[in-house]
Amino acid sequence: MSRIHLLTPRLANQIAAGEVVERPASVVKEILENSLDAGASRIELDIEQGGVKLIRLRDDGRGIEKDDLALALSRHATSKILNLDDLEAVESLGFRGEALASISSVSRLTLTSRTADQDAGWQVQTEGRDMTAEVSPAAHPQGSTVEVRDLFFNTPARRKFLKTEKTEFKHLEEVVKRLALSRFDVGFTLRHNQKVIHQLRPAISETEQERRISTLLSPAFIENAMKVDVSAEASGLRLWGWVALPTFSRSQADLQYFFVNGRIIRDKVVAHALRQAYQDVLYHGRHPAYVLYMELDPKLVDVNVHPTKHEVRFRETRLVHDFIFRTTHRVIADIRPEQGSEPAISGAAASTLLSAVPGQAASGQHFEQSRMPLHQLQGTATGMAGAGFAPSSRYVGDRPSAGQVRDQIAGYGALHPQNGVVDTALDAMAETDSSECPPLGYAIAQLHGIFVLAQNDAGLVVVDMHAAHERVVYERMKLAYEAEGVRSQPLLVPVSMAVSSMEADCAEEHAEVFSKLGIEIARMGEETIVIRQVPVALASADISKLILDVLGDMVIFGTSQKIQEHTNELLATMACHGSVRANRQLTIPEMNALLRDMERTERSGQCNHGRPTWTQMSMTDLDSLFMRGQ
Ligand code: ADP
Ligand code: MG
Repeated sequence: MSRIHLLTPRLANQIAAGEVVERPASVVKEILENSLDAGASRIELDIEQGGVKLIRLRDDGRGIEKDDLALALSRHATSKILNLDDLEAVESLGFRGEALASISSVSRLTLTSRTADQDAGWQVQTEGRDMTAEVSPAAHPQGSTVEVRDLFFNTPARRKFLKTEKTEFKHLEEVVKRLALSRFDVGFTLRHNQKVIHQLRPAISETEQERRISTLLSPAFIENAMKVDVSAEASGLRLWGWVALPTFSRSQADLQYFFVNGRIIRDKVVAHALRQAYQDVLYHGRHPAYVLYMELDPKLVDVNVHPTKHEVRFRETRLVHDFIFRTTHRVIADIRPEQGSEPAISGAAASTLLSAVPGQAASGQHFEQSRMPLHQLQGTATGMAGAGFAPSSRYVGDRPSAGQVRDQIAGYGALHPQNGVVDTALDAMAETDSSECPPLGYAIAQLHGIFVLAQNDAGLVVVDMHAAHERVVYERMKLAYEAEGVRSQPLLVPVSMAVSSMEADCAEEHAEVFSKLGIEIARMGEETIVIRQVPVALASADISKLILDVLGDMVIFGTSQKIQEHTNELLATMACHGSVRANRQLTIPEMNALLRDMERTERSGQCNHGRPTWTQMSMTDLDSLFMRGQ
């Protein structure tokens, strides 16, 4: 042990580098963010050997004044904030003034730059233990070039933790992807060992943006995604982007991108809200996919909670949670074959459908559940008419008469476990313009007691009878449950539970919320609560576990859907048992009544387990199966 002494600047920087510079990918993140903060519109990255040998970035941003160059490489030097007020409403990606100093302490770094009003460029490199910077002239257009060679050459311990070149490059590419998704207006080029990996032009229109997502993530994602764009005037929140159909779920949470004011983040509140939005339609253990952008007043979000700024803290957790949940839940609920009220559908989706003309094998979209609303599909049919088909007129003769329709409804009503079906279905018929084919068309046959085949303007519709009916019944039961309100009953023996004092506080504070949900709860001591009354539907549930889950949610998120979820689960089970089983022979009228019910039901695109309930095969799809028109 020696006497106390000040660390050399290089060592101090190397210690700081421990936090932010873990691997080549972290260097790329920092210097890319600097270019975006400098207003660059084009960024080029050249990488060698996974970034360990070389990372070179060029941008066309504002550049750095000659006199500031040396400062840019020193610790705690930034042009982005001046005082605490700035920090509390920070709009730039960087603000800590540490990245360049850290990186230059563990690599051979050269920074070359030129501003608009300089007529030549200047360059700095740092040397030695005290990191004094040498400034020299260098030819350079406006903008900056950062060259990082031999990362960790002087910190062998760090170097040992690096993985193979391929793995390091994968990490680095992921960073580029995220930043390229965060700023559609900026062009990016990424080369690895002289090979172009990504070349992305600025993407302004929605179609261009979708093309970028398709290139960076997967074409299948964007083909199966719906566009969202919702603003809440009062709170100034806006959420926009793309959410995948529940049928396009993933086995891992690997296609989830969420940006807050242009910064990618991972956040419990956000993840929870989105999981909840999908919870009723996702198969157990599957993960939703999304690329979403939230914009809000920078004052409402604290980005200074983590050195790499991957985490943020929202000032109004509850508001943000509710907004995200409500917005995405609505879009997902709107997925049903309905004309008129359409979830905002993305341009590319419509154009992919429309461009699928005969003679061009419709790439990758055969048999997939088409994206709703169905009038998009009818657009396809019209397009086909131009190409020598006239599907709509072909089917007119097959429409049932009014009398037949009435028979159909009566038939289906008899099949249904609930009453009231007849009335609703009749209404639906009355609203339908008699000259128009309904979105899911008219039933023509039943296949092996499992599938209903129907014919609509676009072509053939195949419906999984049990899955579809189950969803219809389930949604109806939920509505009835909501309309009747929550009926609750006292427990024979009140359940007393040991909880933390924070949870007990929460239970006490939210007693009224609980009572609205049909639960009577009271505090008995510092760490004890007692439950006296629960909803009838939950009488057989494990009530203490449910209450613990709910309190856990409330403590973290200020709200909980657990009771609703649990009730829904029970309703879903009942719906499953109450729906038509496979191998039950249906009459044509019964099948038609089911199709009409599906058109009227929220979330009818998936069964309660998230599997698709129906699929469209357009005439184009069928034609290309037989290579017609090629
Ligand atoms: P921070 O980004 O937190 O400010 P950095 O160490 O990353 O800290 O960068 C220090 C400063 O160098 C920045 O504040 C900025 O003024 C300047 N700078 C870095 N990179 C660039 C660039 N590509 N173009 C213009 N200025 C830059
Ligand atoms: Mg920075």
